[in-house]
Amino acid sequence: MITAAPEPRQSAPWPALRWQQAWRDAVRDPRELLALLGLETLAGRVSDEAAAQFPLRVPRGFVARMRHGDPHDPLLRQVLPLDDEMRPATGYGLDAVGDGAARTGPGVIQKYRGRALLVATGSCAINCRYCFRRHFPYSDETAARDGWREAVALIRADTGVEEVLLSGGDPLSLSNAKLAELTGALAGIPHLRRLRIHSRLPVVLPERIDDGLQAWLAGLPWPVTLVIHANHANEFDDTVDAALGRLRGAGVHLLNQAVLLRGVNDDIEALADLSERGFAAGVLPYYLHQLDRVAGSAHFEVDDARAKTLHAALAARLSGYLVPRLVREVAGDTGKRPL
Ligand SMILES: *Cc1c(COP(=O)(O)O)cnc(C)c1O
Ligand code: SF4
Repeated sequence: MITAAPEPRQSAPWPALRWQQAWRDAVRDPRELLALLGLETLAGRVSDEAAAQFPLRVPRGFVARMRHGDPHDPLLRQVLPLDDEMRPATGYGLDAVGDGAARTGPGVIQKYRGRALLVATGSCAINCRYCFRRHFPYSDETAARDGWREAVALIRADTGVEEVLLSGGDPLSLSNAKLAELTGALAGIPHLRRLRIHSRLPVVLPERIDDGLQAWLAGLPWPVTLVIHANHANEFDDTVDAALGRLRGAGVHLLNQAVLLRGVNDDIEALADLSERGFAAGVLPYYLHQLDRVAGSAHFEVDDARAKTLHAALAARLSGYLVPRLVREVAGDTGKRPL
């Protein structure tokens, strides 16, 4: 039998800058997105007001993983600005997790023992409707602003910090050169033992894991963990698998954190599929987060009783290491709070 040779995914070079082109080329017009999916009839539910507050932005590769003609597609629901967002909801605010109070310097947030989070940049390749970022573009609150000087000085002075988390925004939306500049400055700090990166780019813009990024990761002086943010099994495809394979090839530990979102992943099949699909790509589940109560996101909420029932069903079904921890972030706590 003659079969087509499989594409040599891992060894082919991933050219620099292709990801920047793909990023610029993202879909930004809700009507264009609906037309691409054959869902013009949904236009009446799109809110121009919500889109003005926090614009639609979604890379075309991610759109290609949405089901054509399905108004309930779980990927579409994460990005489409809907009227639901503009309905007021009590208990939903602007700073849902107390980031304001935990700021210790420009772009530095310290909430938990041993860890310092750097808001490395305010940019993301995708705008997720449930995200706190809709109210904080973080344009002048990033650690990159003054060339990392103040952020690095803070971490150097605090000998209790063992792990730096690069977050944002999406830290991998920075250039390879900018990332190397930061880790070069951190590399001389003797008490740092681990580096962690929180990024949705391996999933939403897998082209980002280019040769230069892979080389940067492989050359870092600490063990590196990358927490991808995937909420549904359909977010994975061949290009994502290849990107994750490149990250593993650079020696990076891969974890996933998801948010429990009504209409996206709030059923046992979707949650089990997410764990299993991620694991097939080399990713272990880490956290399943209850939604941060951010204004405009109330229609995604799953109540705690249902969340616990779903989580118990997941634990009864999957291998222990495929069950993420169900947590909520509570301002003032010493860590994520288990439910
Ligand atoms: C979530 C978070 C962390 C990481 O917590 P882990 O439980 O170690 O994943 C660190 N710093 C801040 C500010 C956080 O919000
Ligand atoms: S920070 Fe994460 S959840 Fe928020 S918009 Fe960016 S990728 Fe989406």
